[in-house]
Amino acid sequence: MLVDVHAHLTDERLLPRLKQVLSSARAAGVVRVVTCGVGPEDSMRALGIRDGSVRVSLGVAPYDLRGYDRVIEIIRRNRHLVDAVGEVGLDLKVGTRESLQEQRRAFSEFIALAKELDLPIVIHSRNAGKLAIEQLLAEKAERVVMHAYDGDVSAAKRAAERGFKFSIPPRIATSEQKKALVRRLPLEALLLETDSPWLGPERTTLNEPKNAWYSVEWIARIKGVSPERVVEVTLRNACEIFGWDDLL
Ligand SMILES: [Zn+2]
Repeated sequence: MLVDVHAHLTDERLLPRLKQVLSSARAAGVVRVVTCGVGPEDSMRALGIRDGSVRVSLGVAPYDLRGYDRVIEIIRRNRHLVDAVGEVGLDLKVGTRESLQEQRRAFSEFIALAKELDLPIVIHSRNAGKLAIEQLLAEKAERVVMHAYDGDVSAAKRAAERGFKFSIPPRIATSEQKKALVRRLPLEALLLETDSPWLGPERTTLNEPKNAWYSVEWIARIKGVSPERVVEVTLRNACEIFGWDDLL
């Protein structure tokens, strides 16, 4: 049993054939997918497809914060249907529309919200891994999932010592940074994600949750353990951080 802790099933390339996407995922052993709503409209779409195997995390792109206060309202109103806050965080890719100061302010609000509602928080930190970790530690965030972390591996190691988890996408197949990350972090700090339809094993692949297997195989190879062991430990990690007691 695999859990894909971060995907975008409401993307226009996946949503029209959701049934097929989920049945291929199930056939591959992926029993649960956390779909991530980005912004208010997409958050409502994500809530609309929630069921036993599709869970929901709601946030906003740090590089486009329009409507982020509405996302906070949606999370509050639907607390019982939401499994995590996020993705939220920081993004320092050149040309983003929001200043770092604005990003930090919104990020703070989401960190406080996750703590108040006792939800895990899923972090987007493109080109800003270390900064995001520093803010999370300073604001005493709990139950943190660093999604597709592209930052400094030493900072990641220190965060893992504080209980942060790192979800590893299939893009590890072609990313030296992700391979180094997996090498340095203990298995107990790792989760599986796909970020579908993004971050497939190759840049040209339209990614789907079934591809979580790529992450399993790469982690197994790097760690020198069996794929079964990777599946077992990452499932336990996911259940622990999301507070699920129905999968073990
Ligand atoms: Zn994402």
